[in-house]
Amino acid sequence: MTLALGCIADDYTGASDLANTLTRAGLRTVQTIGVPADDLALPEVDAVVVSLKSRSIEAGLAVSRSRAAETWLRGRGAGHVLFKICSTFDSTDAGNIGPVMDALRADCGQAVVLVTPAFPETGRTVYQGNLFVGAAPLNESPLKDHPLNPMHDSNLVRVLARQSRTQIGLVDLATVTRGAGAVRARLAEFAGKGVGAAIIDAVFDRDLETIGLVAGEHRLSVGASGIGLGLARALVSTGKVRSASRSAETGAPVGGPAACLAGSCSQATLQQIANAERIMPVLHLDPDRIITGAGEAQRALDWARPRLAEGPVLIASSSTPDQVAALQARHGRDAAGHAIEQAMADIAESLVKSGVRRLVVAGGETSGAVVDRLRIPGFLVGVEIAAGVPVLRAVGAESDMLLALKSGNFGGAEFFSDALRLMR
Ligand code: ADP
Repeated sequence: MTLALGCIADDYTGASDLANTLTRAGLRTVQTIGVPADDLALPEVDAVVVSLKSRSIEAGLAVSRSRAAETWLRGRGAGHVLFKICSTFDSTDAGNIGPVMDALRADCGQAVVLVTPAFPETGRTVYQGNLFVGAAPLNESPLKDHPLNPMHDSNLVRVLARQSRTQIGLVDLATVTRGAGAVRARLAEFAGKGVGAAIIDAVFDRDLETIGLVAGEHRLSVGASGIGLGLARALVSTGKVRSASRSAETGAPVGGPAACLAGSCSQATLQQIANAERIMPVLHLDPDRIITGAGEAQRALDWARPRLAEGPVLIASSSTPDQVAALQARHGRDAAGHAIEQAMADIAESLVKSGVRRLVVAGGETSGAVVDRLRIPGFLVGVEIAAGVPVLRAVGAESDMLLALKSGNFGGAEFFSDALRLMR
């Protein structure tokens, strides 16, 4: 198998967003959790997104992990590698966007790297090198107060220049609007002047398509899901990839019992649980008993096991904001959250041992704990249940299984039944 596109994402949720965007654009896409083992068996796919947690770690470590991911992707034939960053360019003067870009650029010997965090459908646009979040320049947006990466400068040419060893240029919107030929000419000019990377403006999806076409002719690019969309559309429009129907990819039924776990206490999830009560048995865990180690996970398993043969079940720790606040006051916020996440992971592990092959998890942290515990190396991304929440098929895991992992506020009121309907 030869990958048409390899991606290295600097955080997990960004990786999921990119994998979903590529799939929507017609690429068969696998998202891996960390750099995969050399012998990971992959289905036939066009793109792999390697999820790292390298956004806010020490720059040297981010470089070495990104390089390991790059080696793996190039080893699978990836001609182009996208280094996926946050669409708000989260970074500091120490990195990690500049140092990782410099290292990957040196590895592949590319003259000029195109860089853009633009993703118009989420309100991220770049004009004259300045990043806008909706109507506000980056430095006036809530990102100015980000706890780890406060962004005080909207001019990305300057921001990147402070982090990179190479000179940074700008390909402005007027050039992008004139089309791929004009962008290529500007890059050739930059190469002659020793400019090693260029911020490229994009305000509309059609700009991303132009960028994707030109970037795809090179070995490396840097950006958010927007440039991923541009690269994917270019691969499909130039016939390098035959657009796939995502339902065909994860559609082969896995069968087996189904279960839902909810650790999110968001309004949306509370409503979704209430609606699920009408169609499946629901067990409400006692969070105090989880934290005091009173065998609550075992009680949940004893409750679930005899019911699984009859149909899906839902096990929820979720409670209302008042109850959450009271629990946190009694036990401490972190201790409570961690204990409940681990209990959910225990329950998931035992359910899978009991034969569950279709698992729906509500809650971002809860999903992370469950996926870690099940030691799933990666996912093939399938049909969307709700915006941003696809059906996932485990890749390289001990058992063939389907999962849906949703952040608290995602999904409609009937999310659990919507998910199970698509997870056969
Ligand atoms: P979301 O995606 O809605 O933020 P997460 O799973 O990321 O959901 O976070 C929810 C957090 O709340 C987790 O740490 C989870 O363990 C914790 N939690 C779950 N149930 C309760 C509860 N009843 N009281 C307090 N905390 C809870």
